[in-house]
Amino acid sequence: MTTTRPTDRIPGFQGTVVGPADPDYDTVRRCFNRDHDQHPALIARCTGPEDVRAALRYARENSLGVAVRGGGHATAGFASCEGGLVVDTSPMKHVEIDPEARTGRFGAGLTWGELDAATQEFGLAVTGGRVSDTGVAGLTLGSGSGWLERMYGPSARNLVSAEVVTADGRILHTDAEENAELFWGLRGGGGNFGVVTEFGFRLHPVGPLLYAGMLLHPRSAAGPLARFYRDFLEQAPDEVTGAFALVTAPPEEFVPEEARGKPACAVIVAYVGDPARGEEALRPLVEWGDPLVRMVRPMPYTAVQRMLDDGTPTGVSEYFKIDYLPELPDEAIDTAIALAESIGSPLTQLIFCPLGGAMDRLDGDAMALTVPPTKWVYFCLAVWWGSEDRLHHIAWARDLHSALRPWTTGTSVPNFILADEGARLRSSYGPEKYARLVALKNRYDPGNVFALNQNIPPSG
Ligand SMILES: Cc1cc2nc3c(=O)[nH]c(=O)nc-3n(C[C@H](O)[C@H](O)[C@H](O)COP(=O)(O)OP(=O)(O)OC[C@H]3O[C@@H](n4cnc5c(N)ncnc54)[C@H](O)[C@@H]3O)c2cc1C
Repeated sequence: MTTTRPTDRIPGFQGTVVGPADPDYDTVRRCFNRDHDQHPALIARCTGPEDVRAALRYARENSLGVAVRGGGHATAGFASCEGGLVVDTSPMKHVEIDPEARTGRFGAGLTWGELDAATQEFGLAVTGGRVSDTGVAGLTLGSGSGWLERMYGPSARNLVSAEVVTADGRILHTDAEENAELFWGLRGGGGNFGVVTEFGFRLHPVGPLLYAGMLLHPRSAAGPLARFYRDFLEQAPDEVTGAFALVTAPPEEFVPEEARGKPACAVIVAYVGDPARGEEALRPLVEWGDPLVRMVRPMPYTAVQRMLDDGTPTGVSEYFKIDYLPELPDEAIDTAIALAESIGSPLTQLIFCPLGGAMDRLDGDAMALTVPPTKWVYFCLAVWWGSEDRLHHIAWARDLHSALRPWTTGTSVPNFILADEGARLRSSYGPEKYARLVALKNRYDPGNVFALNQNIPPSG
């Protein structure tokens, strides 16, 4: 008896198709956030734009809902679906770098760890995610915040071209001149307008070594340390980057035994430039107080990009709240520290990142992404294992978000907006950009095929 492999069912498909009967189905279907455990009917692992086109046609002809996957890190679980078809772009990992022009073209399936490794061979980099297995695709389309942003802006700003397969199967090249309106929408409009198969980035000289690392202080130092950090960063040159975070000290050898598992404050530091200058510029921060851990030294940029990897291991569940703070007053700091007392999981982190520098000089008209003129952004990452206490962790993140609201803009980058936050999405873009995005959606995806994302529904 012959069995029909799912692959045979998508005419013209060159990649592999994985269905529930396949032994690797459970491995392939899983996304980063285990809080969303979904079972698609088929996963079409695409090798290029023609495969994407074939998969979209198959979904249309069989009335299957569509999810699009890059690195599978979407907090809201948008990269998969129940009973539908996943257009999985993760097998597309080609890289083409022009070191003279300082540009590169990258397959949509690359992770930031893979892209960083490729660009660093030429001493180049582009702003990318702070956790190395996050996908280039989703992160860039929905903004792209990273350690380099005070120097070079978010990933979306550095996007110079994209190849897109639209809902009706057209394969389009987009850049500032060709299909310019679509290109504008891809820079911050998320996965609303098509499946991107290739990203073109402007690259910048970075590394190979940066003066960077981490300091860990006891939580008792949080108040004065956060104030010092704020004042230091607000005066620092663009090259200085990093974060201040309320965390639990990890059970690692580099942490003194008595501090492991206890509330702590982490300071991530990096200087995007000459390491000797970095040592000089960061000295006041590195020498502040009496840290439990002081691990700051020249290190490869690729290691800087992996510094947070261990904090978010594969298989966890997570819930995010993010917001911008025009200023970071003492009251906001004290409120955050007080609420951090009731963090319910050792993996949960409340991170404050400085903006400023290039983030103040973005050409807001050139892209859909809106970054308000603010000095700070916080990332409240509730992270836990398994399904126990799920509601407690989510409630904690929501409470924190409400408690900090007097000092925040109430907006976010698209990547951190959840499925039930349509009003927040609209206000984050602002009315003019949102109307322009709806017009783009009407033009390129009037049937809302690409609905599993920070969705901009067509007006029809
Ligand atoms: C551990 C962790 C760390 C993170 N760190 C950062 C950070 O430092 N900076 C930051 O800005 N964000 C960060 N994020 C958020 C991240 O940017 C978003 O979750 C982003 O959507 C992830 O992209 P992805 O390709 O991995 O996700 P996916 O889940 O694969 O996709 C996310 C969205 O993009 C769409 N999409 C994916 N691929 C394509 C494609 N090829 N064409 C069109 N649409 C596509 C999907 O449909 C989905 O709506 C982090 C998230 C996690 C879980």
